[in-house]
Amino acid sequence: MNLMTNQPPTAELQALDAAHHMHPFTAGAELAEKGVRVITRANGVRLTDSDGREMLDAMAGLWCVNIGYGREELADAAARQMRELPYYNTFFQTAHPPVIALAARLAELAPGDLNHVFFAGSGSEANDTNIRMVRHYWAAQGKPEKSVIISRRNAYHGSSMGSASLGGMPAMHGQGGLPIPDIVHINQPNWWAEGGEMTPEEFGRARARELEDKIAELGEDRVAAFIAEPVQGAGGVIIPPESYWPEIQRICDAHDILLIADEVICGFGRTGHWFGSQSYDIRPDIMTVAKGLSSGYAPIGGSIVRDHVAEVIGRDEFYHGYTYSGHPVAAAVALENLRILEEEKIIGHVRDVAAPALAKAWATLADHPLVGEVVTRGLLGSVALTPDKASRAPFREGPGKVGLICRERCFANDLVMRHVGDRMVVSPPLVITPSDIDEIVRRARIAFDETHAEAKAQGLMD
Ligand SMILES: *Cc1c(COP(=O)(O)O)cnc(C)c1O
Repeated sequence: MNLMTNQPPTAELQALDAAHHMHPFTAGAELAEKGVRVITRANGVRLTDSDGREMLDAMAGLWCVNIGYGREELADAAARQMRELPYYNTFFQTAHPPVIALAARLAELAPGDLNHVFFAGSGSEANDTNIRMVRHYWAAQGKPEKSVIISRRNAYHGSSMGSASLGGMPAMHGQGGLPIPDIVHINQPNWWAEGGEMTPEEFGRARARELEDKIAELGEDRVAAFIAEPVQGAGGVIIPPESYWPEIQRICDAHDILLIADEVICGFGRTGHWFGSQSYDIRPDIMTVAKGLSSGYAPIGGSIVRDHVAEVIGRDEFYHGYTYSGHPVAAAVALENLRILEEEKIIGHVRDVAAPALAKAWATLADHPLVGEVVTRGLLGSVALTPDKASRAPFREGPGKVGLICRERCFANDLVMRHVGDRMVVSPPLVITPSDIDEIVRRARIAFDETHAEAKAQGLMD
């Protein structure tokens, strides 16, 4: 035991972890050899590990700690609610004050007539709800064959059977018999990797029109919905060309299908508005929310739906729900998080201060020899690493090798940044200051220098 912290030494924690803990998205054998990184505390935008080392968290955990770490108010809200009513369900005509207040608050914040909330414990669960909800929406109107959901390659919508089927990650589909029936995928608007000779605007329109082609191919009477993130997050922070969303919206309006915006990352201020849909002028019928809804302090997600959808779903019993749909403690924590986001004008801070600071600092990385595309939107940013800027070439060794080196060099420089293939991504807490943004970019540049040297030494640059 470490007498100062009452904590077993790191090596002991690592041994127990290796022996007993199965990790998400981790190769177990590789991890056991290296030893897990144990995070013990956090405050603001900084994490502390079990050796007392402090790191800048440029990922806000997993894209979720929007208000930053260490807010006592959320701990107090959770403790208060746990004492008052730790649990009750929302099935069979019951509710409790926090879930009612949270549903009403979300209806107020969400644009247009997105006035109704179905709660879940996570983004994955909420997207599973969405699959059943949109299919039931059409079936209840006498169109059960209108069941196909169109999604996109390289999308991320969660890890459950349904949500991972919506996702467009081949590695995930390769394990466990995915996708489930009646989910199809079109291409993503990733200009850097796939745009070829087209301008970004031409490419954005062309990729949007794949939706119209797919609807024509399947027949409008077969298609229930289209789902997409305003900005793909886990796919590598792929910021769509400006032409993309207006064309998608036009196609959804022209055809009788529902539009689901997966706002799990974009929601609650990440793009400089409450919702990414507002940043891109999208009018979804359903929005998926999770992550920033509670800033990650408690697990909660949900589907925010428009009047016409709620009306149809509410006609008869919807045989669907989770034990923790609208969990009172999670709802109380989410409410307190929303209060802080509003009263401290954190979304205004993103729009007017932090996002411009990130855009400016991030752009300075463009001259680095390893760096191709450099993009931001709000407090989402990514760079594409490449051996050849001019041709936008991928690395010959296949994706992810240089990205992984880079992620490790970031850690070595006390910076938590993620790699998606050979894209490096950031998504810091929304409360970050311009000076901490500059510090992220300063450390990132050192990490890129070290990665470049390492990639050259390993013969990966040509
Ligand atoms: C993280 C994520 C999900 C899944 O949320 P979980 O809470 O991990 O189940 C769904 N959609 C998007 C866009 C996400 O980033």
